[in-house]
Amino acid sequence: MYEVQVLFEGYCRPTEGGMLTNCTCTLVKGPKNIVVDTMTPWDRMKLLNAIEQHGLVCEEIDYVISTHGHSDHVGNNNLFLNATHLVGRCVSHKQMYYDDSTFFNSDGVYEIDKNIQVVSTPGHTLADVSVIVQTIKASIGIVGDLFEHEDDIMDESIWLNAGSENPLSQKKYRKAILEQVDYIIPGHGPMFSTKKYK
Ligand SMILES: [Zn+2]
Repeated sequence: MYEVQVLFEGYCRPTEGGMLTNCTCTLVKGPKNIVVDTMTPWDRMKLLNAIEQHGLVCEEIDYVISTHGHSDHVGNNNLFLNATHLVGRCVSHKQMYYDDSTFFNSDGVYEIDKNIQVVSTPGHTLADVSVIVQTIKASIGIVGDLFEHEDDIMDESIWLNAGSENPLSQKKYRKAILEQVDYIIPGHGPMFSTKKYK
């Protein structure tokens, strides 16, 4: 079965001269090892150390998944040279670049195995994906910026102001994922339970 470890909790706060921000970076350990969202290039050493602290080396990562292509979510993808790489719906391995319909079915789902699905959740960007993991205890959605953090459920301006290429679509998929999973790991905040929002 799978185990989900948040390696680094994302954040986003206004500061003098701009936004101080980094994404949530998550490790899924199990029959397949997966890193979701790899922060910025300046986080290289701390990500390497965190992978090692969890008893793995980069070569043992089977998939690296960036929920979308923004630069704070893809910075260390090149640490994982044995992995299949997904950036949103773009799938590649070494020099092979695949048509997304090779993997994603007509419902926008790429089933890695029966406990892990990569689901198309367009909105923040049109190619956004979320990773849904079934663990022994619960289902967990690692959703990137579909949700910035828990507070954006009550205050829509948070996710809208973070940029949305299609707010109507984002709204639809936010609702669907909230209903589907027990916990959400958002793009820029701590994991939260969806129980009180159902
Ligand atoms: Zn982000």
